[in-house]
Amino acid sequence: MPGSEDSLECPTCTTVVDRDDAIRTKTMGGLDPTAWQTLCCPDCGTRLKTVFVGE
Ligand SMILES: [Zn+2]
Repeated sequence: MPGSEDSLECPTCTTVVDRDDAIRTKTMGGLDPTAWQTLCCPDCGTRLKTVFVGE
């Protein structure tokens, strides 16, 4: 199956970023960094999505 849910298009530079290639940072909202991470565009640094990474 195509992994469309695993890739994100950057709204700033229109790069399609594979979820595994995105830069992961702490969220800006003070959420637990072991449970939530923000995916950022590797080209321009735009925040793309906040994802739950906890169990
Ligand atoms: Zn970008």
